[in-house]
Formats: sequence, C-alpha cells, structure tokens
Amino acid sequence: MIRFQPMHDRCFGCRRPSGNGRFCFLCARAWPVVGVTAAGSYTEPVVRDTIHAMKYRYARILCSALAPFLESAIYLHGDAPHDPILVPLPLSRRRYTWRGFNQAALLAEGAGSRAGWPVAHVLTRVRHTFPQAELSHEERHANVAGAFRVQDRFSFEGRDVILIDDVATTGSTLRAAAEACRTAAAGNVYASVIAIG
Ligand SMILES: [Zn+2]
Repeated sequence: MIRFQPMHDRCFGCRRPSGNGRFCFLCARAWPVVGVTAAGSYTEPVVRDTIHAMKYRYARILCSALAPFLESAIYLHGDAPHDPILVPLPLSRRRYTWRGFNQAALLAEGAGSRAGWPVAHVLTRVRHTFPQAELSHEERHANVAGAFRVQDRFSFEGRDVILIDDVATTGSTLRAAAEACRTAAAGNVYASVIAIG
C-alpha cells in the first residue's frame, strides 16, 4: 500500500504554515488561486517514482491508481470549494501526440467519477510552451503567461473551479490557467495535484 504525506498545511507561495492549502494573506494578493493542496511531496522518492512512471512509461493504469490520491488532495481544501467543477490542465498538442494521453485529464476523470464532481475539458493551450523543468523560475512565468484560454462561449457562470495537474512546482502554469478561468467567469479557483515539487 502506497502512503503519501498530504501537503495542505503550508502556503504554496512562501511555505509558511497555513490551513487547507490556502495562500497566506501576504501571498493571496499576488495569486488568482485560493489554495493549492497535494496528496504528497515530490521530494518523497515513492511519489516521484510513481509520477515519473505514469508520465514516461505511458502507464494509464497508474492514473487510475493515483485518482484516489487526487480525490483525497481535493478534500484537503475543506468545505470552501462550493459545488466545484474539475478542470484538468491540457497538454500541448505536440506532447499529447507523443504521450498518447493527458495524465491530468485521466486523474480528473478518475477523481470526478469517484466523488461526483463534474469535469470540464475546456482549457486549451494557445501556443506551445517549453518543458517547465528545463527553465529558471523567471523563465517559467514568461513561458506560460497567457498560454491558456477557455473554449469559446464556455462560461463557468460563477461556479468554483478546481484546477487539476500531476505536479506543481513554481505554480506558473496553475497561475496562467487560473487567469484564463477567471476570464471565463469562474468563481473561486483552487488547485489540487498529486505532488508539490
Ligand atoms: Zn505565503
């Protein structure tokens, strides 16, 4: 049985103590996301190895195995996300073609079907971005700024959104995705991932 150490007692921005994955009051002003929760830390070898296997050995089956972990990460937000819609982060077309599946979409579908949350595959990449892992902190933000948009004519109509991805490191990607959702009338935007890097 794999056990992860949940990550929800720190502000994602500065890593100071904070409940339910919320940004602290200092960081909150700079972020379009209310809070980030994770099933585990990317520094734990078992977490890192499992995610790596899921992404690079084309293991769809591991997405199913990890969906309950994502579901538990979503519950770490507490009661605040009201009647949320799960929104997985999309891959670029190029990477989707290479990998054959989007791990964020499969994780969101798995957790959504378990807990009854709807999943909206409405985020698209406006342009290709470089792999974030190869870039510095500053480059990451510039790389993804404005990289996402919500499909034409789709509106969240004020409903809360929970962005779903496998790993969050600097949060630049989550920030860009959240801004796109806010443009499409999202209420509060949260994020849940398998691991915080
Ligand atoms: Zn903070």
